[in-house]
Amino acid sequence: MFDNLSEKLDKALHVLKGHGQITEINVAETTKEVRRALLDADVNFKIAKEFTNKVRDKALGQNVLTTLQPGQLMVKIVKDELTELMGGDAAGIDLSGNPSVILMSGLQGSGKTTFSGKLAHYLKTKKNKYPLLVACDVYRPAAIDQLHVVGEQIGVPVFSDKENSDPVALAKAGIAHAKANGQNVVIIDTAGRLAVDERMMTEISQIRDAVQPQETLFVVDAMTGQDAVNTAKSFNDVLNFDGVILTKLDGDTRGGAAISIRSVVNKPIKFIGTGEKMDALDVFHPDRMADRILG
Ligand code: GDP
Repeated sequence: MFDNLSEKLDKALHVLKGHGQITEINVAETTKEVRRALLDADVNFKIAKEFTNKVRDKALGQNVLTTLQPGQLMVKIVKDELTELMGGDAAGIDLSGNPSVILMSGLQGSGKTTFSGKLAHYLKTKKNKYPLLVACDVYRPAAIDQLHVVGEQIGVPVFSDKENSDPVALAKAGIAHAKANGQNVVIIDTAGRLAVDERMMTEISQIRDAVQPQETLFVVDAMTGQDAVNTAKSFNDVLNFDGVILTKLDGDTRGGAAISIRSVVNKPIKFIGTGEKMDALDVFHPDRMADRILG
C-alpha cells in the first residue's frame, strides 16, 4: 500500500529530526515529496515546481519543524495553497439574463453534449429553471439526434433545425424560441472538432458575438492530461471564456489537470463531470479537489 502524502511527510520529517539536523535542506527534501505527489496527479512540471517553491517558503516561514507533527502541518499548508490556487471558493454561474444564455465550447468528444444535458437537468431540478437546449452542430446530424435523446431523458425541450446550416442563425433562432416559450435558460451546444482548428474557433466566436452569452464555458476531458491544458489555452486565447468544465473525473485520473488549467488560463473551474448519466455532475469545490489530488 502507498502511504498518503501526510504519512510520507511525517515519516520524512521524523527521520530527519532524529538526525538532529533540522535545516532548510530538510524542508526541501519533503517538498520533493509534495512535488512527486503533484506530478503523480498529472500536474504540469513547471507549475508543480513553482508551487512547491511557494510551499517551501511558507513552511519555513511558519517554522513547521518546531511542531510535533510537521508532516501534518506541511499537508495543511499544501492543501490550503492548492485550494487557493484552484480558486478558493466554488464559482457560481451567471443566471441573471432573461433568458440566460450559456454557450458551450470544446473539442469533439470532450463531453459537451453530455454536459449540456447535465447542466439543463441540474438547473431544472436544483434551480427551478426552465431550460432550452439548442443544437448548433450543423455538421453532424448524429450530434443533433444525440441532443434530442438527452433532452428526452431529462424532460427538457430541444431546439434544432436540420434545414438550417448557419450556426449563428440557429443560435439566435433558439433564443427567440426560448423567449416565445417562457424558457429562461438557453444552453447552446456547438460543433467541436477532433483538434483545435481555426474554422471552429471562428464559428464559435461568431456565435458568441451574436448572442452575447452570460457564460461561455469550455468543456474538457480531464483524462487528456497535458493536451487538456494546451487546448484550454487555445480556446481561451480566442474566446476569453468564463469558466471550465472538467469531464470524466470518474476515471482513475487524480485531477491534476484542474491545477494546470487553472494556472494557465486563470479561469474558474465551475463543474466537474463524474459519469455518463445525467445526474453525474458536481459543482467544483477547490478544497475537495485538493484532497483528491493529494490522495
Ligand atoms: P461532445 O462530442 O463534446 O458532445 O461529447 P459527448 O457529450 O458526446 O461525450 C463523448 C463521450 O464521453 C460519450 O460517450 C459520453 O457518454 C462520455 N462522457 C461525457 N461526460 C462524461 C463523464 O463525465 N464521465 C464519463 N465516464 N464519460 C463521459
